[in-house]
Amino acid sequence: YKSIALLTSGGDSPGMNPAIRGIVRTALNSGIENVYGVQRGYSGLIAGDIHKLTSRSVTNIVQRGGTMLKSARCLEFKVPQIRAKAAEILKEKGIEALIVIGGDGSMTGAHLFTEETGIPVIGLPGTIDNDIPGSDDTIGFDTAVNTALGAIDRIRDTALSHESLFLVEVMGRNSGFIATQVGIACGAELVVVPEYEFDLHDLCVTLAKQRANKLGSSGIIVIAEGKDPGLTSRIAYQLEELGQEPKICILGHIQRGGSPSGHDRMLASCLGASAVQYLLAGYNDIMVGVQQGAIIDIPLRKVITDTKTLDQNIFAITTLLHK
Ligand code: ADP
Repeated sequence: YKSIALLTSGGDSPGMNPAIRGIVRTALNSGIENVYGVQRGYSGLIAGDIHKLTSRSVTNIVQRGGTMLKSARCLEFKVPQIRAKAAEILKEKGIEALIVIGGDGSMTGAHLFTEETGIPVIGLPGTIDNDIPGSDDTIGFDTAVNTALGAIDRIRDTALSHESLFLVEVMGRNSGFIATQVGIACGAELVVVPEYEFDLHDLCVTLAKQRANKLGSSGIIVIAEGKDPGLTSRIAYQLEELGQEPKICILGHIQRGGSPSGHDRMLASCLGASAVQYLLAGYNDIMVGVQQGAIIDIPLRKVITDTKTLDQNIFAITTLLHK
């Protein structure tokens, strides 16, 4: 390859910048002459907002959160004719292959794009939610878990001082990976995830009883945002009915920002470098991810059709650690 392009798409995640740096530097150091950065994900691809990057362009970003290329949601990219137009724009610039860093939606777009246009595409898993099938880890997950933990440790101080009960809602879209890891690591009294059904009333009765028996203690309940935006409020309402005075804290977007952790910088740099190596070795229509500590490739078709399940044994541990 003489010219390649890269973009970041969907929700941003801490570590996208070191991934960009890994791709750009590896490509230029491996004989690829031109590396182009596409602005704002698939939107920039359609708009032709594509600019050449040098080794210097990615200086001093390894420690920065967010993405220097910006990210966007682009509904138009779901239309085949629009994807064909994007391919024309790449061809006009002599760009022969594309690397996409993003979540499962971005991987779907990437797969359709290469299937229809023949332009080789490699995907990298970039999301704080860790919900991408085929990879044990995603760029940004570790940082998001640590950011949430930092916030909850502070909440715990207040909860202890006031002997109060906090409902802390964490991100994760439809998955409970963040909630499970954060819940275990912050010493949560209870973790609620979308993967496992529960009876709201029973849950609150048990919780209220536990608290009645342990006067003077704090309580942290970690709740994954899940599909149901009103869940946290409903749990709070039920607990109030049972004489508790829960306080709600929705951590929200603070979990998406901040400097990537050492783990995420390492993961992103290695996946970025590997994406280029896979491309140069002739691979196409794959995502480069991690399984059992090793860097591997998974067909994009498999990534977008499989579902990633929360490990039942690990989730079960959240129920074993309370007093
Ligand atoms: P994420 O990549 O974080 O899952 P989204 O689901 O918003 O975030 O997807 C990011 C972008 O990927 C979308 O804005 C769209 O441009 C593209 N995309 C998502 N789903 C599809 C699809 N079914 N077909 C084509 N492109 C898609």
